[in-house]
Amino acid sequence: MISPSSSPDSTVKDPGHPLVELSHVEKHFGSLHVLKDINLSVNKGEVLVVVGPSGSGKSTMCRTVNRLEGIDSGVIRIDGKELPQEGKELAMLRAEVGMVFQSFNLFANKTILENVTLAPMRVRHMSKADAEDLAMDMLSRVGVDSQASKMPSQLSGGQQQRVAIARALAMKPKVMLFDEPTSALDPEMVNEVLDVMVGLAKEGMTMICVTHEMGFARKAADRIVFMADGRILESGTPEEFFDHAQTKRAKDFLSKIL
Ligand code: ADP
Ligand code: MG
Repeated sequence: MISPSSSPDSTVKDPGHPLVELSHVEKHFGSLHVLKDINLSVNKGEVLVVVGPSGSGKSTMCRTVNRLEGIDSGVIRIDGKELPQEGKELAMLRAEVGMVFQSFNLFANKTILENVTLAPMRVRHMSKADAEDLAMDMLSRVGVDSQASKMPSQLSGGQQQRVAIARALAMKPKVMLFDEPTSALDPEMVNEVLDVMVGLAKEGMTMICVTHEMGFARKAADRIVFMADGRILESGTPEEFFDHAQTKRAKDFLSKIL
């Protein structure tokens, strides 16, 4: 189903198949209105990059997509199915949304391999042997398979973040959310993580990426969404956004970061 707000757009991939849809989403934290009439439709295979000043609601919007945060009103659909409030159905839908955060969130007391096998065994009920095969595939996909038996603290930040990506991929998600995955990394490790993300994008993964890495945004994004004060103010191709921003807020933002 296509939300009323999603207009035909020649730049989007597979426009008949929105994998993630937010329609008239509203969210408050107490008296703070953090998401204001958010309408967004991400198609299969599309790479959406979300940019905007700190505090504009980017993380909150990402977190509502798998209900780490509830919403006050509006509708969120994953692959056409409305997100349920709770229960087993929510767990299943959540499993289809891979999430990678700024802080790597690996389980410190488990090996790299165990970090990746845990959810496939618990949520997908895979056997240990199958989960380990799968985990090694995912770890080699992000180039850290040689670290499988180590503990997270023995890895660099860039390696840990790649493990976090492998862990999310092991659930075979339909969409991957990245919330500033390189912001906590030392500069020399940023590219190894961005390269993995570019690779995923090229393989056709549907992705929503919040990032301040404008080189990545230009290179990998099919579409850029600019948020400020809880609203989506602009949505367009990288060329449209970077070279022809419409709003003063976006122009100010760009003048500070470019
Ligand atoms: P961004 O990711 O764009 O920096 P956030 O989504 O983190 O923005 O935050 C949007 C606004 O909501 C900010 O004003 C922030 O302080 C506030 N906020 C975020 N999380 C919470 C929370 N759990 N409780 C109260 N306020 C929050
Ligand atoms: Mg944030």
